[in-house]
Amino acid sequence: MNTFIAIAYIVSAVFFIYGLKMLSKASTAAKGNMVSAVGMGIAVVATLLIQGLEFQWILVGVVIGSVIGAIAAVRVPMTSMPEFVALFNGSGGLASLLVGWSEYHTNFGGYDASAESTLVPLISIFLAILIGGVTFTGSMIAYAKLAERMNSRAIVFSGQQFVNAAILAALLGLGIVFCLWPDSQLAYGAFLAAVVISLGFGVLSTIPIGGADMPVVISLLNSYSGLAACAAGFILGNTVLIVSGSLVGASGIILTQIMCKAMNRSLGNVLFSGFGAASAGGGDEEEGDVKSLSAEDAYFVLEAASSVVFVPGYGMAVAQAQHAVRELGKLLEENGAEVKYAVHPVAGRMPGHMNVLLAEANVPYEQLVEMDDINPIIETVDVCIVIGANDVVNPAARENEKSPIYGMPVINVDLARSAFVLKRSMASGFAGIQNPLFYKENTRMIFGDAKATITALVDQFKGKN
Ligand code: NDP
Repeated sequence: MNTFIAIAYIVSAVFFIYGLKMLSKASTAAKGNMVSAVGMGIAVVATLLIQGLEFQWILVGVVIGSVIGAIAAVRVPMTSMPEFVALFNGSGGLASLLVGWSEYHTNFGGYDASAESTLVPLISIFLAILIGGVTFTGSMIAYAKLAERMNSRAIVFSGQQFVNAAILAALLGLGIVFCLWPDSQLAYGAFLAAVVISLGFGVLSTIPIGGADMPVVISLLNSYSGLAACAAGFILGNTVLIVSGSLVGASGIILTQIMCKAMNRSLGNVLFSGFGAASAGGGDEEEGDVKSLSAEDAYFVLEAASSVVFVPGYGMAVAQAQHAVRELGKLLEENGAEVKYAVHPVAGRMPGHMNVLLAEANVPYEQLVEMDDINPIIETVDVCIVIGANDVVNPAARENEKSPIYGMPVINVDLARSAFVLKRSMASGFAGIQNPLFYKENTRMIFGDAKATITALVDQFKGKN
C-alpha cells in the first residue's frame, strides 16, 4: 500500500509540474488549471488511503471548508478577488502554523535532541510556525490594504529597520534554544514566544510596504505560504506536501522577481523590507488645465484612427467593462484600425488581473502586448484608450524624481499621438498620487463609468454605420 501511495504522490507531482508549465501561457492556462486540479485530486485520494487515518476529523474539515468556500465563491464579487487571494495565502500560513503547533504539542517532552533524526522535524516545526505566522498576519494586513479597510500608504517609524533586525535576531535565538533543548520547559517558552513574535513580525514587515509596491508583497506572501506548507510537509513526512509547497514557494519567488522588475526594485530591497517607505510627496500638486471630451466627440477621432491601443487598469475591473472593450475593439478593426491591448505587469490588484479579464472577454492572445513591446512604438499610435488605469500610465514615474513611483516603468501613453483617459473623476489611483498625464496637451479625459463610456462609443459606431 505504501508503494502505491508513493507512486500516486509522484504522479500527482508530475501533474502539478506539468500544470504549472501550462499556466505560463495564456493559451494553455485553463487546461493547466485542470491538470493541476486532477493532480490535487490524486494526492487527496492517496492521502486518504494512508493507514490509520482518522476520517472523522478530515470529514469535519472538508465540510467546514466546503461550506465556507461555496458561500465565498457565490458571494465574493470578481473585483474583490485580489483581497480574497490575500486571505487564501493567510489561511495557508495559519494552517502550517497550526500543523507545527499540534505536532510539537503531541511530541512535547518526547523529543531527544541528541538523536540526529529529530533535528529535521524540530527545524521544520520552527520554520512552519515562523513562516506560517509571518504569512498569516502579513496577509491580513495585505487584505486590509487591498480591501481599503486600511490606508494603503506605507507606515514607517524611526528605527524600523533596527526593530526588524532585532526581531530576526530574537527569532534565531529562540530557534536555537528550541532545537537544542526541545524537551525542556525552556523550549516550550521559546516556542510560544516564537509564535507571538512571528505573528507580530508579519504585521511589522508588511506595514512599511504600501502604495504601488503592494504587488511585490502579495507575490512574496504567496511564496511564503508555499514555503510554510513545505515545512509542514517535512513535519508530517508527506512528500506531496513538500513538493507542492516547494512549487508554490519557487513560483512565488519567480513572480516576486517579475513584480520587482515591473516596479524597478531589487529583490534584496524587498526581502529586507523598508521598501515603498519613501515618503509620499512629489506629484501631488495640480498641474494645469484638464481637457474633457464627450463620447460622441471621441467617436469622430476614433473613427479616423488607424492604430488604437487599449490600456486597461483597475477601473476596468471595477466597471466590468472588458466585454464592451472587446466589442469596441472589434468595431475599430472592422473600421480598418490596428487594435492592440497593452498590459502593464502590475495593472489591477493582483498579478495577471488584466489578462484574466481580457481572456474572459475572448480578446485574441496575439492582440495582447507587453509594456516592453508597446513602449518603443507608442509614438506611432494614433489613440491610446486608458480604461480605468492610473498609476501604470503615470509619466511622473519617468519625469519627476520626487515622485514616490519614480523609476517604476510605466506604459508611456503620454507619448502617443493622443490619449483618451476613461475614469469617473480626477481621483488618484492606488498609490495615492496625482497623474500629470491628465494635464498633457494631447490627453482628453472622458469622465464617467468606463463601461458606460465604452458602451456609448460602441453605440456611436453601430449607429453611424
Ligand atoms: P489605479 O489603482 O492606479 O487606478 C485605477 C483608476 O480606476 C482610479 O484612478 C479610478 O479613478 C478608476 N476607476 C475606478 N472605478 C472606475 C470605473 N467604474 N470606471 C472608470 N474608472 C474607474 O490602477 P492601475 O491599474 O493603473 O494601477 C494598479 C495599482 O495597484 C498600482 O499602483 C499597483 O502597484 C497597485 N497594486 C497592484 C497589484 C497587482 O498585483 N497588480 C496588487 C496591489 C496593488 P476614478 O475613481 O476617478 O474613477
